[in-house]
Amino acid sequence: MAQKIIPIFVIYKGCPNRCVYCNERITAGDYPDRITEDLFRRIVDKHLKSLDEYVYIQIAFYGGNFTGIDRNYQTELLEYAESYIRKGLVNSVRISTRPDYIDEDRAELLKNYHVKTVEIGAQSMVDEVLNLSNRGHSSDDVRRAMEILKAKGFETGIHLMAGLPGDTEERFRYTVEETIKLHPHMVRIHPTIVFQDTALAKSYQKGEYKPISMADAIKLCKYALGKFETANIPVIRLGLQMTREMEREGSIIAGPHHPAFRSLVEGSIFLDMASKLLKSTGPGKEIATFLLNPKDASDFRGMRNQNIKSIKERFDVTEISIREDSKQERGTLALVINGKISKLSKFQSLMDS
Ligand code: SF4
Repeated sequence: MAQKIIPIFVIYKGCPNRCVYCNERITAGDYPDRITEDLFRRIVDKHLKSLDEYVYIQIAFYGGNFTGIDRNYQTELLEYAESYIRKGLVNSVRISTRPDYIDEDRAELLKNYHVKTVEIGAQSMVDEVLNLSNRGHSSDDVRRAMEILKAKGFETGIHLMAGLPGDTEERFRYTVEETIKLHPHMVRIHPTIVFQDTALAKSYQKGEYKPISMADAIKLCKYALGKFETANIPVIRLGLQMTREMEREGSIIAGPHHPAFRSLVEGSIFLDMASKLLKSTGPGKEIATFLLNPKDASDFRGMRNQNIKSIKERFDVTEISIREDSKQERGTLALVINGKISKLSKFQSLMDS
């Protein structure tokens, strides 16, 4: 069933400290300090008007640290959402929060208010990286929070970041492996971006923090995507959601930011697939035909047809034709050369990497 999330951002609410990379005024967009009932209703009603009848609808409290919010205000917000659930207009609630603010009591409150999904900001499973990012919690807090949430039957999500201070490729890989052991229902991943007015911006300007390159961000996220998909854990977001504030000049100081980051990662996977297929083919591949699902066509071509150019240069292919066929399974690529067909799925390709 198609799912729709109605996001409400409670900017910095309940945060015990400021993480070095965080500027919610830029990443969340234009939300006031306090969500009043009137504003809440205006946002939710506007979304509901534009929805199809038969979708599963969740109201999501994002931003800040939901379970760290003063209990009265937390309950007030949950009550606003509850009134829509009682009328049958919304199915459940979703929140994002910190792992060190999950305990039996807080989880019970969420259960009482139809919260179905809890997304935990873990960011890394390496304690030194968490310390250097001023997260103020440990990797064991993530493990403990997941245990409580799972025991109470919540659907769980984990947020991760690549390229945090002190992180390395090896440490990021460890983070992915440790996250898989926790069996979340979903994950979100994004590379670390240096935003204006953050501690990270100061470290960057002093030359103490160096962001990862776009190529490394794609490589790390491709690795994570492969591992999570192999473990049957959907990666529901790769890269940050764009806001108008991010487009404003000076908001983003440095880092591997791209408004369609996921497409860059998916495009890189398709380039790997095409390369593997071409490598396994003998001579005489000047003319190559690729068969794929129409929904994969733009990922296969890559940004500004970059993949097509790369394939031609790397494999001496003079002519590439692309046949889109809706019968072709999504995420698979077939290569036809001299009448011979070879095929590879994204899943197989990621497993090999
Ligand atoms: S806990 Fe989340 S919202 Fe609060 S400062 Fe850290 S990253 Fe930002």
